[in-house]
Amino acid sequence: MKKGYFGDFGGQFIPELLMPPLIELEKAMETILPSEEFQTRFIDMLKENVGRPSAMTHCANLSKDLGLDLWLKREDLNHSGAHKINNTLGQGLLAKMMGKNVLLAETGAGMHGVATAVAAAMLDMKAIIYMGATDVVRQAPNVNRMRLMGAEIVAVESGTKTLKDAINEALRRWLSDQETTHYCFGTAAGPHPFPTLVRQFQQIISQEARQQFMDRNNGSLPDAVVACVGGGSNAIGMFHHFIPDASVRIIGVEAAGTGEPGCDNSAPLSIGSDGILHGMKTKLLQTETGQILPSHSIAPGLDYPGVGPEHAHLHDSGRGEYVTINDAQAINAFKVLSQREGIIPALESSHAVAYAIENKKMLQGKSVLVCLSGRGDKDLGILDEIL
Ligand SMILES: *Cc1c(COP(=O)(O)O)cnc(C)c1O
Repeated sequence: MKKGYFGDFGGQFIPELLMPPLIELEKAMETILPSEEFQTRFIDMLKENVGRPSAMTHCANLSKDLGLDLWLKREDLNHSGAHKINNTLGQGLLAKMMGKNVLLAETGAGMHGVATAVAAAMLDMKAIIYMGATDVVRQAPNVNRMRLMGAEIVAVESGTKTLKDAINEALRRWLSDQETTHYCFGTAAGPHPFPTLVRQFQQIISQEARQQFMDRNNGSLPDAVVACVGGGSNAIGMFHHFIPDASVRIIGVEAAGTGEPGCDNSAPLSIGSDGILHGMKTKLLQTETGQILPSHSIAPGLDYPGVGPEHAHLHDSGRGEYVTINDAQAINAFKVLSQREGIIPALESSHAVAYAIENKKMLQGKSVLVCLSGRGDKDLGILDEIL
């Protein structure tokens, strides 16, 4: 396999000026990341600051309702309420040990911005967060959280003033400030080495979950693992250690939007085509001439027209199955999990839970392990508007 590629996907489709910081980062991954000093400090922080290992929960009521065996990997119990902190603390610590003092990040819904602000505060670094001007208004509570923790917010006025434009502007800023600054990318996407780096920090999810599942099930493995796919970081973290287990189905859930024919959606693996965006070759929502199409999901964290390249490869190689869940099915799962188990899931994670609910006939008697990527408190406002 070519370096930085997953099958046909991945690579480094970037301006030449961005090569030096990417090469520097790749070197740090080879030298600092495996060092005992990094590993000891990172494992300590995951334990003391994040609260790892996160629990694995058996859903007794919902399992009975559905006629299957439903388990949740509880990333919602992490400090700051989602899986994103695994990545921001990892990249933050790596950057600090590289001698950088600024963490630069993009954010759409604000969740990655908040997780970056948390990491920066913890590590005594400065966070600069690029955010589309539209999102700054839409996501005011997260903007307030970031500011409270000392982050500087840069509102991006170009393009559609959303995530895609924030990424472009943040990459531009990195070009000029690479000496002092690390670009803390938010998902397992972008140019090499980010998809590999982010996976490295998120693989802890399946490392823990695989062992926890075997401990609770006499050494047997689940029939299927399921995760929602936005950029793909919680999903690749959840899948990684199960990929060699041929008996385990690997199922990624994309957001279908309203589900009406031709509606805006966030399902590039299911209905997109091959192309290049944000430094990588991957599956994209685009027109025949390569114009990026607007994406949509009720779950703000899934609203992205691309996807990490390893998922594009898992899709094309057939090892991963990628399916879609629409807004209404996700809202139903949000309510069902709240009422039957007392767990309020993030709308993103609700897509993964919905897969088990919608496919209960096919999954009769099977054990299904779902990544609950985050908690749903942040989504109560969206739900209020709809219900
Ligand atoms: C950001 C987010 C996602 C989507 O990001 P991935 O990189 O695809 O994991 C999913 N769930 C929650 C709770 C999020 O905050």
